[in-house]
Amino acid sequence: MIKRVASAIVVALFIVAGVALFRTVQLSHDVPDIGPVAQHDFDEEAAVERLSQAIQFRTVSPQDPADMEVEEFEGWISFIESAYPALHETLERERINEYTLLYRWDGTNPDLKPGMMMGHYDVVPVEENTTDEWAYPPYSGAIADGYIWGRGALDDKGGLMSTLEAVEYLAASGFEPERTMYFAANHDEEVGGHEGASIVADTLEARGTELAFLVDEGLPVAEEIIEGIESPLAMIGVAEKGQVTLELSIVREGGHASMPPRETAIGELARAVRSLKDNPMPGRFADLVQSTFDPVSPELPFVYRAALANLWLARPIIERQLSRIPHTNAALRTTIAPTIFRAGMKTNVLPARAETIINFRIHPNDTVESVIEHVESTIENPNIKIEKMEGARNASGVSDTEAVHYQRLKRSIWETFDEIPIAPSIFVAATDTRHFLDLTDNIYRFRPIRATPDDRGRIHGTDERVGIGNYVEMVQFQIRALHNMTEANPAE
Ligand SMILES: [Zn+2]
Repeated sequence: MIKRVASAIVVALFIVAGVALFRTVQLSHDVPDIGPVAQHDFDEEAAVERLSQAIQFRTVSPQDPADMEVEEFEGWISFIESAYPALHETLERERINEYTLLYRWDGTNPDLKPGMMMGHYDVVPVEENTTDEWAYPPYSGAIADGYIWGRGALDDKGGLMSTLEAVEYLAASGFEPERTMYFAANHDEEVGGHEGASIVADTLEARGTELAFLVDEGLPVAEEIIEGIESPLAMIGVAEKGQVTLELSIVREGGHASMPPRETAIGELARAVRSLKDNPMPGRFADLVQSTFDPVSPELPFVYRAALANLWLARPIIERQLSRIPHTNAALRTTIAPTIFRAGMKTNVLPARAETIINFRIHPNDTVESVIEHVESTIENPNIKIEKMEGARNASGVSDTEAVHYQRLKRSIWETFDEIPIAPSIFVAATDTRHFLDLTDNIYRFRPIRATPDDRGRIHGTDERVGIGNYVEMVQFQIRALHNMTEANPAE
């Protein structure tokens, strides 16, 4: 994300740099001295082989639940049982709604709040006409050219399997967590998690469980973000966007096309859509978006550092540039996307009714209500009826980056990826964590996947794959995270 922004803002920033030269300060990023780190000697080859096998089950979430190929899900579950014997001997397992697995590993100190780590093993389908474009067939789990290939390698079988590998390794070596840990393997994340994660959350809530923290899929260790800078940037999703879909409709006099009135249904509705495009929801380079840039700022070329150190002057320029790039724009503000427009049947008849459906992805700075207010005040047309469709939800809260568990997650990243910068950030898509907002305030959306800009297209796309060396790092990371995050903290 930052690479494209960086090149886009360079020209504008030269001007700022000249003016603001004297205000520029050396910003530093806070990496503690981690010291020597233990390498855990699990069987790397076997772990890679197990991920390859996990990919070979076609656990596709279909849009219509009736189309679910249950034998693939059953097959995956039986495979997990045989692949991780120590885990299944040590942890309690429940099948939630048949296909989602919830594990509990009792801690030695029952007074501590339990923690939770989860992932999903369902995947999106491979579009039929793209199968031939894959370097290796999408469900082959091929181990070749330094990668493990196939649907789910990045999203999210890699993340989930690396967590299970860590539990297996620790359980087999006699490790006992101080804190009780829950693990969930969710089966319908790609279609909303209503049958899986949502029921897990309800189950825990009904038992009065409160969680100390929850780690789920999310942002990666981003590589090649800034030209000339070697260091990757680890991003932890501490918030995720909500959404609301609105139907806007208008009824006007219909009639023959030969004598149209001054205002028509299509004309008025089109004007409303246009005015929403011209008047986006406000976004500000501050808080979360700014904190994504802070950790890399010391390594940035002078002009960027100058801009970031002189926000009093550069903020409007930075905001304008970020707004032009779709995915930085999505991090900055609530987005507005008209997805359906319906009106008219016949070439010579004015339709009496026109309607449009608009999808809004809600930034933590806004709410469902503030979005509707924005729409009303922007279109300023009492003839247009605005209806909220099902499934509206506000953005998540923002997890506290000073919290002990966040610090321990950071430590686990540094232990695995050396002292790279780590930034809290906003996740602009949705995860299963949305069902857990009442169970904990400490939700972290992160996977230790090294992702280049090129990998973004592989998620839900063609040639999804994860590096073999990276997968081994992922397992190391999960073992360290389990060590670090299950320990009691001084405040408990
Ligand atoms: Zn996913």
